[in-house]
Amino acid sequence: MRVGVDLGGTKIEAVALDGSGREVFRKRVPTPRGDYQGTLKAIGSLVAEAGEGTVGIGIPGALSRVTGLVKNANSTWLIGKALKEDIQREINRPVRIENDANCFTLSEAVDGAGKGAEVVFGVILGTGVGGGIAVRGKVLTGPNGIAGEWGHNPLPLPTAEDLPLPPCYCGRAGCIETYLSGPGLSRDHEALTGRKLEAEEVVKHEKTMLRYAERLARALAGVINVLDPDVIVLGGGMSNVARLYTDVPRLWTRSVFSDHVATRLARNAHGDSSGVRGAAWLWDPPR
Ligand SMILES: [Zn+2]
Repeated sequence: MRVGVDLGGTKIEAVALDGSGREVFRKRVPTPRGDYQGTLKAIGSLVAEAGEGTVGIGIPGALSRVTGLVKNANSTWLIGKALKEDIQREINRPVRIENDANCFTLSEAVDGAGKGAEVVFGVILGTGVGGGIAVRGKVLTGPNGIAGEWGHNPLPLPTAEDLPLPPCYCGRAGCIETYLSGPGLSRDHEALTGRKLEAEEVVKHEKTMLRYAERLARALAGVINVLDPDVIVLGGGMSNVARLYTDVPRLWTRSVFSDHVATRLARNAHGDSSGVRGAAWLWDPPR
């Protein structure tokens, strides 16, 4: 059995998958926010309930290759902790830990929208913008633990409509995330119309969504020019916007350095379950 745990900012979810990917256990509990020991205990009891097997964990951050400690986590009580060692001690089993966007990408590469593809770029368009890369069914982590993290690259080729560059929490301005996250879409709609709406409402507005699709096309063209993936799979709340799958591939052709763009843009197959499934597949996924 392969046990996967998705450690999120608001909930911790666990699944157990059999060898064919069938789900035999699933449970979610609220995250003990701000409570590190409580977080370890919650993971420990979920894993015990899920049963025997390998354990993979997706986290909202990364393990530093230098120190082994958690970095880049928006669940700030995890930062600087020896999460891997502490969980291993708690559950008395070896664990593998990966960034949650990487787990999403792995899940979609193994048995989702990117199944059978050699190179998959997974994109999270949600509260933030994240990404991950899977090559031949394996996550690419990178020596800095940030492979695929395109959200804090600058939006390519800014036009007058993109100015002034929106400030980003990372300390820079004009990051892709400031335009393409849910809150970024809200902010842009307000800049365009003077009306403040949640992202779920903004998606009905033609003009704002065309700006969004055009920016997403520019941002993904930058990824295609570097990585040339077979498939780009969208996840997160914005991945539910159906028009993106026709608008964006139509718009990205002008920014991709190729006469023809064979890369597919696909909606995720596993929805909210992709993170936890990918965590399970950190150990020997089916090929
Ligand atoms: Zn940034």
